[in-house]
Amino acid sequence: MSQWQRTIKKEVEYYGLGLFRGKEVTITLKPQPPDSGISFQRIDLKGSQPIPAHVTCLRNDLKRITLGRGEAEVEGIEHLMAAAAGLGITNLLVELTDNEMPAGDGSSKVFVELLKEGEVVEQQVTKNTFSLCEPLVVEEDTASIIALPFSEGLVLSHRLDFGKLSSLRQSFSLFITEEGSFKELFAARTFCLTNQIEEFQRLGLGKGVTEENSFLIDKEGLAITPIQRKPAALRYADEPVRHKVLDLLGDLYLTGVELKAKVFGIKSGHSLNVSMAKRLYGLMSREPSLKRQELKV
Ligand SMILES: [Zn+2]
Repeated sequence: MSQWQRTIKKEVEYYGLGLFRGKEVTITLKPQPPDSGISFQRIDLKGSQPIPAHVTCLRNDLKRITLGRGEAEVEGIEHLMAAAAGLGITNLLVELTDNEMPAGDGSSKVFVELLKEGEVVEQQVTKNTFSLCEPLVVEEDTASIIALPFSEGLVLSHRLDFGKLSSLRQSFSLFITEEGSFKELFAARTFCLTNQIEEFQRLGLGKGVTEENSFLIDKEGLAITPIQRKPAALRYADEPVRHKVLDLLGDLYLTGVELKAKVFGIKSGHSLNVSMAKRLYGLMSREPSLKRQELKV
């Protein structure tokens, strides 16, 4: 990855529906000066401040990533964060007209295309990087994430295993580069298990789900469409595990720093990803040389 900070050259806009609540939202991506970081701002709320995309601004939400500052919250930022991490974007303001990010096609693809349309530019100021120097482990029931030192870059791996809920078992690993993210990761769409979607619907969520922007995995490990329950056309044979790696990429970027490490997720999801990001940030905050974004809150 480049040593320089990056932003976009011009403002770009996108309109869509949120995946969980199905409400209309317009997002505007705006260039930012060096050392600004990535932040989200609710322009529908009078006087609301930008919310840094940072572990220190996370709100409790086990199913996806929600940021908050005062009354203002922004839900479902993870796929834009993965796009930003993969493209090496360090400075960006995302304005929203509602509280949920648009679902797009359920992957990072629309956000990558939007950032490309805004023309990614380098800012000739070096970015913050952090090389992990000691092993870290976070665990939750039978799930875990292990991070190991690796000075050459970021390698993300995931082992998908739903136990008795589904017979699907997949593993995937990727050395993160811009080109590799394009080919192997950005297009992997979100999914859930058939028994989870019923739980989401009971909670009144999943209103923006379409036949194209997500899929279900049944007990036998087959991918089916979320509404008509027909066999789903996958973009990669192992699209589910690739999406888990995409989520991990976006979630770890909530440290606000480009990480150099090998990170292995086993049966993990957003809540454990966030625990690892917090542990990493704990180590980073002992580094006086890193310019820290949360201080601006
Ligand atoms: Zn996701």
